[in-house]
Amino acid sequence: MTYTSAEPADLDRARAKYRAERDKRLDPSRREILDLTGRGELVEDPFTEVAPREPLHDTVDALVVGGGFGGLLAAAHLREAGVDRVRIVEKAGDVGGVWYWNRYPGAMCDVESYVYFPMLEELGYIPRHRYAYGPEILAYAQKVATRFELYEHALFHTSVTGLSWDAAGGRWSVRTDRDDAFEARYVVVAHGSFTSLKLPAIEGIDTFEGRLFHTSRWDYDYTGGGPGDPLDKLGDKSVGVIGTGATAVQIVAPLAASAKQLSVFQRTPSTVGVRDNRETDQEWAKTLEPGWQKRRRDNFTFVTNGEKITEDLVRDGWTVFYHAMLSSEGYDDLSPEELAEQRELTDLRHMENIRARIDAVVRDPATAEALKPYYRYQCKRPCFHDEYLPAFNRPNVQLVDTQGQGVQRITAKGVVVDGVEYSLDCLVLATGFDQDSSYVDRIGFDVTGLDGVTLSQKWKHGPETFQGVMTSGFPNFFFLPPNYTQGTAAVNFVHTLEETVRHVAFLVGEFERLGVVADVTQRAEGAYVQSVVAGSGLALLGGGSFLKDCTPGRWNNEGDPEGRPRKNVNYPGTSTAYFSMLEEWRRRGDLADLNLTPRPAPAAAPGPADDTRRAR
Ligand code: NAP
Repeated sequence: MTYTSAEPADLDRARAKYRAERDKRLDPSRREILDLTGRGELVEDPFTEVAPREPLHDTVDALVVGGGFGGLLAAAHLREAGVDRVRIVEKAGDVGGVWYWNRYPGAMCDVESYVYFPMLEELGYIPRHRYAYGPEILAYAQKVATRFELYEHALFHTSVTGLSWDAAGGRWSVRTDRDDAFEARYVVVAHGSFTSLKLPAIEGIDTFEGRLFHTSRWDYDYTGGGPGDPLDKLGDKSVGVIGTGATAVQIVAPLAASAKQLSVFQRTPSTVGVRDNRETDQEWAKTLEPGWQKRRRDNFTFVTNGEKITEDLVRDGWTVFYHAMLSSEGYDDLSPEELAEQRELTDLRHMENIRARIDAVVRDPATAEALKPYYRYQCKRPCFHDEYLPAFNRPNVQLVDTQGQGVQRITAKGVVVDGVEYSLDCLVLATGFDQDSSYVDRIGFDVTGLDGVTLSQKWKHGPETFQGVMTSGFPNFFFLPPNYTQGTAAVNFVHTLEETVRHVAFLVGEFERLGVVADVTQRAEGAYVQSVVAGSGLALLGGGSFLKDCTPGRWNNEGDPEGRPRKNVNYPGTSTAYFSMLEEWRRRGDLADLNLTPRPAPAAAPGPADDTRRAR
């Protein structure tokens, strides 16, 4: 990548422009989202018919809540750890998680498929493209479920409504919205980060008389076509898209190619880097040696964490920028202030490149200017696409820039911005996911642990966890760390899931071996929470002005980074540091932070799970 020639003298100009762009977006109404209670039509599953079934009353060894990659990996590894009867309970009609729901046209994964797809070597699979499209990823999730026989006990179109710990039986009682009532010795909640739809509470949103849907509930009956096919019913339709985040960047080109007219309503432009997707070179695939995927995946996470490396195996838009930005290589002699300025300059040069690409591609100068992001690269999630910007050269596509304010109003006929009404037949909400409500609200059920204490009570002031995966008072209960529950977040989400699942499987394997029920000691949890919050506080002080100066968005709590609850943080440092901490704890092998009590003997009339265990 050739960088533009921004000099230190240009930093002041950039800082002033970035500040002005941030300030005009600092609007408290950004946080207002629509309460989706009772709005089933916006959230129900358009992809699979709900099959009637009788309620279940039985016993399994483990319940896994969620059938995305987190849940699939957890279930597969629990089986490998010797837990046979594992039941996935999933709200959707199949496994796949985000790839089940996000079937919008153009959906693809923007992390390289060779590091994103889990277990490629175990399953003997090579993705078809360097950056895989949604349908292939969904099919691969189904392949994982089949390979580990996870369909056998799975319940789809089913939501857990409550969990309560039965201390006498040493197991969890599970209830669902399909009137199931069953028991499980272990529970793993693998809820995911992009599960609850976020619809902005825009005035008049209920009055729109055309077709309105969120991107993760795409209505192909209305649009025609499919994820990779032309949307053949849109030829006479005016379509609007609200939002210009990672999802919108992927749907704009397919919509532009099919709709009579497309209006894209923008509040903040995304950074759109080069994608350069291509088919997998089968000759290259033949050269891969055993262990290649772990090496490549670890290398990607190392590079994007700014660790020292001898080689960048992936070498794409993520790794090149993050290495240039975060690595200190070559800067050993600089003071912290000089290093910070050097990094800011690297960032500015990168952003100048991003903006120069827009000028080079988009012909109308006003549209090009409006599409330019003015903030530091890491303020928002980077996007990569090669057809998004050219779509704005089409005569049937218009960018409606809301000057940072968002759309003003929705009417029966369309969308109003700056007093102008844009008439629409169809309105697509590419407005993302709610990741900020309380954990219990997001998972959609409460958990009653020891002494009747609920998770919502315990986490009233934010999560309290041990290592981001367990919480004291809730024995044999695990959760995979979505962001901000004292776990971690890597650019490659699946890598985070794999490492966390490995840890959970280790714990469950040990509990099985010892025949115990396990709970975290309050002391261990208290010390962990304290160190994470203190460490993240330091990070906030060090990085506080960076986040504060960013354009408002999720990563800086909509412009108020200090306003985020103090416990809603991640493990300080990088995901690599978090993975090492877990590994080190496992290596110690003493389980010293846990209270272990003998597992109660099975009741007189054992369920099938107990039969299975005896048979082994
Ligand atoms: P998002 O990043 O939250 O973007 C939502 C968009 O809606 C933003 O552009 C936001 O503007 C805009 N918006 C919200 N309210 C608005 C209003 N009232 N008027 C106008 N615009 C409004 O959601 P997303 O694009 O669905 O992405 C969510 C996450 O999914 C990403 O962070 C990413 O991690 C994941 N994702 C991943 C991939 C992949 O390839 N792996 C692909 C797609 C998505 P502001 O920016 O001003 O808030």
